Amino acid sequence: MGQDLSRYHRQLLLAGFGEAGQRRLAGSTAAVIGCGALGTTIADTLARAGVGHLVLIDRDFVELTNLQRQVLYDERDVREALPKAEAARARLARINSQVEVTAIVDDLDATNIERLLAGADVLLDGVDNFETRYLLNDYAVKHGRPYLYGGAVGTAGIALAILPHTPQCDAAWETLSVGNRATPCLRCLFEEAPPPGAVPTCDAVGVLAPAAAMVANFEAAEALKMLADRFELVSPTLLSFDLWANSLRQLEVTRAGGCLCCRQRVFEYLDGGRGSGATALCGRDAVQIRQQRDAEDVDLVAAAGRLATHGEVKVNAHMLRATLVDRDQAYEITLFRDGRAIIKGTHEPGVARSVYAKYIGT
Ligand SMILES: [Zn+2]
Repeated sequence: MGQDLSRYHRQLLLAGFGEAGQRRLAGSTAAVIGCGALGTTIADTLARAGVGHLVLIDRDFVELTNLQRQVLYDERDVREALPKAEAARARLARINSQVEVTAIVDDLDATNIERLLAGADVLLDGVDNFETRYLLNDYAVKHGRPYLYGGAVGTAGIALAILPHTPQCDAAWETLSVGNRATPCLRCLFEEAPPPGAVPTCDAVGVLAPAAAMVANFEAAEALKMLADRFELVSPTLLSFDLWANSLRQLEVTRAGGCLCCRQRVFEYLDGGRGSGATALCGRDAVQIRQQRDAEDVDLVAAAGRLATHGEVKVNAHMLRATLVDRDQAYEITLFRDGRAIIKGTHEPGVARSVYAKYIGT
């Protein structure tokens, strides 16, 4: 109310958008899960567009190799080893102070998703693994929340707007001219995650910044349509492209007849306990270790004191980082206040768990 809309002039001019659309954006909440290449571009676009509240969720911290494509970060964030969600929040506050940004430095999982995503009108996918995507898909279908699925690896990308089947969503799709009121969910498309090693990762083949940006901007555009209440404009097709091969396709997709998630409403990832506590991180020689959720906050300064005898330790308000050598192998341990840690120097969960147990303790 009383918000100065002049900064949105070029957006207000768009056909069918106007002040009404702008005010809807201002009253909306968008959750961006993952603040990497996709998430930073999505958050940048939505903040500039004037989406009133952004919830940014990311478990990781900024590194030099992120700067090639993760548009909200700079070299100072790398030097200070800031958590990505915090660095993004600080940057977005300088871009649009009218937007409220909630930064959550945590790993989204089945134990916290209901709390962290409550109140989000739309979920935008910036994650790097299928487990979290299936969890998001379960949550979206269960609660009837729109979910923008997207992924980019190498020079290719894929994205789909998922509108789950609630009475409201069905009503919105009634107005579609394509005659298809149903959008498939992620498990209609991919019933199971590909086995480890079966698909290329950012680690193996790299990622082209414009490919990630295209996916991110598709997700952002579809979210803006939804938040401005223009559901009839939402893309009914799966976007698939490869910038090196100069191919761009919009594929017709349909709901799977027996889909466990959106037909049978069995939410394996949300309710069924699928998923684990130690996960190898995409694109990194690193494993994340998760601790019990009810544990008290770690005293980072005390922990840094204990680790100082083993190697070089840096600590700030959010995390500590220790570089040490164990049995001739160099590790970098990043420990967050909630007890979660990223162990760099191995991709084996068992090795990471033992390093955690040895130097952090349970
Ligand atoms: Zn489905």
